[in-house]
Amino acid sequence: MEGIEEVLKRIESGELSISRLEKELPPNLAALARRAYLERSLGVSLSSIASTILDFDELYGRNIENPIGAVQIPVGIVGPLRVNGEYAQGDFYVPLATTEGALVASVNRGVKAVTESGGATVRIVKDHMTRAPLLWTPGIVEALRLVEWIKEHQEELKARVGEVTRHGKLVEAQPFIVGNLVWIRLYYKTGDAMGMNMATIASDRICKHITENYPGEASCVALSGNMCSDKKPAIINRLLGRGKYVVAEALIPRRVAEKVLKASPEAIDYVNRAKNLLGSAAAGSPSYNAHIANIIAAVFLATGQDEAQVVESSMGFTWTEIRGEDLYISVTLPSLEIGTVGGGTRLPTQREALSIMGVAGGGNPPGVNALKFAEILAATVLAGELNLTAAIAAGHLASAHIQYGRGAAKQRKEARQEH
Ligand code: NAP
Repeated sequence: MEGIEEVLKRIESGELSISRLEKELPPNLAALARRAYLERSLGVSLSSIASTILDFDELYGRNIENPIGAVQIPVGIVGPLRVNGEYAQGDFYVPLATTEGALVASVNRGVKAVTESGGATVRIVKDHMTRAPLLWTPGIVEALRLVEWIKEHQEELKARVGEVTRHGKLVEAQPFIVGNLVWIRLYYKTGDAMGMNMATIASDRICKHITENYPGEASCVALSGNMCSDKKPAIINRLLGRGKYVVAEALIPRRVAEKVLKASPEAIDYVNRAKNLLGSAAAGSPSYNAHIANIIAAVFLATGQDEAQVVESSMGFTWTEIRGEDLYISVTLPSLEIGTVGGGTRLPTQREALSIMGVAGGGNPPGVNALKFAEILAATVLAGELNLTAAIAAGHLASAHIQYGRGAAKQRKEARQEH
């Protein structure tokens, strides 16, 4: 094998492309050569990016192309969080990966309030990953005929799915028609996997079956016709669900609201209605909440979820009511796309993060780990929504960010140590 210096000379001369190094070198060496080339040609140091436990011989071709190293994101922990779910029952610690000072402290105070109130009740309302192929027909008469044929042949389509996956199961094929075009929104159970690859492979098999066996005129325009809808904000996901449709709720006694959150139930309820509901409506937002994306993104990064799916996974509603002296609060996440196997969940740090919640890998029976994870995550989102809405009600938002986000707490500690 040639030395790194020879490889660098060939890259610099234009003979070898940095995206083709793995054709000649094992992935770890290719990453080193690619990095060395960038350092030399750009005059930068990448020694921090180089410092990683990741083994690209293992990850190349599964999780990354053109690797040069890794970035690190701090991980904080919140808990214990009491969850009264169907799959998650007990007290849990939840890892959040973020560089936003104040986020972990904020969620943790909400966690304390939820746990002191007896915990969050959580239920999964629906569980299905979707893919929606787009089919062309010559006109509306043929489009309706195709939809009817698909309805009559659902058992055949289910059998085709069984040929390409053990865990993926087709549960429904829902048609949508616009003019001569037909979208079939396919709903799958995907076990403990988030399921996007699984659903895509299964949908490809279904499209082939339709185009080969449907007696009329129809062709597949796009395996994903955007009615799925993946990695884009879409009302269809909010309405019909995608991934896990989850609701988490808690009843916060007045004494807990006032002692832990420093705000009354009435003040929290009013801020929720005025800011989270009316403010979002006035802004034209499809998502009615305080900061669900903060918690979803931090848990997604910590646990190896597909980061781009924060888009639809963080769509949701925060709802409050005054119940006598107490505050009822719920969050509804209609499109929570998570998994405990597949994708980035197999990376070593991400797998450890999942193990903190007792959900790493496949469940027994398959699917229960992902359902348990969804319940814990929804309860964490509830805590985050409760705390931020209360902090705003109490007028604490700016001061908390000055304290944690700008290092004021650290400066005060250092000043104390100096005196
Ligand atoms: P995957 O790793 O592609 O599939 C899961 C694999 O795990 C399957 O081979 C499955 O076997 C196996 N498996 C073992 N135990 C399982 C269990 N208990 N439950 C479920 N599966 C089990 O993962 P995926 O969730 O389908 O796809 C996730 C990846 O898709 C991520 O990397 C994401 O970034 C990417 N993605 C793809 C698209 C796309 O359009 N293709 C879009 C967005 C994201 P069987 O197949 O035999 O069941």
